[in-house]
Amino acid sequence: MELRNCKKCGRAFAYKGIPVCLRCKNDDEDEFMKVKDYLYDNTGATIREVSDETGVDEKQILRYLKESRIEIIEEGNFVLECERCGKSLRSGRFCDVCVSDMSKEFSSAIKPKINNIKEKPKVKEKMYISDKLKRK
Ligand SMILES: [Zn+2]
Ligand SMILES: [Zn+2]
Repeated sequence: MELRNCKKCGRAFAYKGIPVCLRCKNDDEDEFMKVKDYLYDNTGATIREVSDETGVDEKQILRYLKESRIEIIEEGNFVLECERCGKSLRSGRFCDVCVSDMSKEFSSAIKPKINNIKEKPKVKEKMYISDKLKRK
């Protein structure tokens, strides 16, 4: 079990792949429901309006957008930008072009640079060996 401090309230909790504790996660779900409900009735509301009406922080609404849980109506908004190329986005963190570019990048075959391995400074190697001996 890994203990971490909750990103929201700062309390220590058992980390299970989510950066916030269970209580904050539930709060977050509640707040997201409020935002979603409000948007059902008021499609086209601005982030500020949603924040004013629901009491949910604007930053949090932005986060929902980045997590692709809600999206912006206009294509050319200046609210969300692709984190890679800066193109205007409606939801998520990257545009379609960058997503496909990145998947190409990540699927490229890689190999170690042989030169780098050879050029390891000898001094360090010696230090490592003597270090090992000392510990024995
Ligand atoms: Zn918390
Ligand atoms: Zn992009």
